[in-house]
Amino acid sequence: MAISANKVVKIGLVGLGKIAVDQHIPALRGNPGFELVAGCSPNARPDGIPAYPSMEAMLAAHPEIEALAICTPPQVRHRIAKDALATGRHVFLEKPPGATLGEAEVLRSFAAEKGVTLLASWHSRFAPAVSLTRAWIAQRKLKSMHIVWKENVRQWHPGQAWIFAPGGMGVFDPGINALSILTAVVGDAVIVKKADLHIPVNCDAPIAVEMEMATAQGVPVRADFDFLQENLQTWSIFAEAEDGGKLSLGMGGTILEIDGQPVMKEAEREYPGLYAHFHELIASGASDADFAPLRIVADAFMLGKRIAAPEYIE
Ligand code: NAP
Repeated sequence: MAISANKVVKIGLVGLGKIAVDQHIPALRGNPGFELVAGCSPNARPDGIPAYPSMEAMLAAHPEIEALAICTPPQVRHRIAKDALATGRHVFLEKPPGATLGEAEVLRSFAAEKGVTLLASWHSRFAPAVSLTRAWIAQRKLKSMHIVWKENVRQWHPGQAWIFAPGGMGVFDPGINALSILTAVVGDAVIVKKADLHIPVNCDAPIAVEMEMATAQGVPVRADFDFLQENLQTWSIFAEAEDGGKLSLGMGGTILEIDGQPVMKEAEREYPGLYAHFHELIASGASDADFAPLRIVADAFMLGKRIAAPEYIE
């Protein structure tokens, strides 16, 4: 059901870990369209927000909450999101939208059935240079693309044991951000052709992945994901066109170079953009639930070759 574009939506956060504290809380405080009412998490109690041990306890104390942002690890997201939709609340899902495609698809149809908004968020799609990249690609015939997404898991995911557990996706947790940009800019389906999944002998998810994909029209796309890069991260996507043109999208979509010339370098404002989008969706009674990035990861797990990697100790 559509509402006034000026309405202040009362929202609660589920899962008060790193991303909730680093991004959701500041983005919500900076958006006059939302009132952050409370949060819940089994243990975390960040300053300045009333916190409850579970979503049920939070909603019992604050029945006025109209929307929920689910910022938990992916393994528990489905049950929480389904319960949230069942109560008639709008739902913002952190990425990935589920631990499996099946989970995500059930949420999409359940939200439609309940007549509420579902946002399956892909924060990297809101990076500043993504729309210029999409426009550059749309004007050309692509020859190839290459994704290089490498970071230090110990720096970016301290204490997050869930990431190497079943359903945690390992290095696909950051890698899916690159895939969310890829699927937003190519304007074509992306098919996995080959994937090498390097899985530490004491883990259930990969620490490095080399993947060969192709668009439905046959443009080759390679991806190299690594969780053991020390020092500065590399979050880059390179595209080459049949006419010789070259595009380089760096630092997660904040830096753009075309034919070797700088075109854009901007600070990221992904979460303010995501919450503005969520508010517009709620106001217009719409949903945004695209699972193309998750499908690529699922296909990589289905097709991929598992290669034993050394034990990972944080
Ligand atoms: P995190 O630091 O491990 O935080 C997850 C939080 O969820 C923890 O505080 C945890 O609880 C809470 N939680 C676990 N089970 C719960 C439940 N049943 N009900 C309510 N809360 C529960 O992980 P994170 O980095 O914030 O990542 C969370 C999600 O956001 C992941 O899907 C990730 O892919 C995505 N994300 C992360 C980043 C990033 O840079 N970290 C960026 C974008 C998106 P307690 O601590 O209270 O035990």
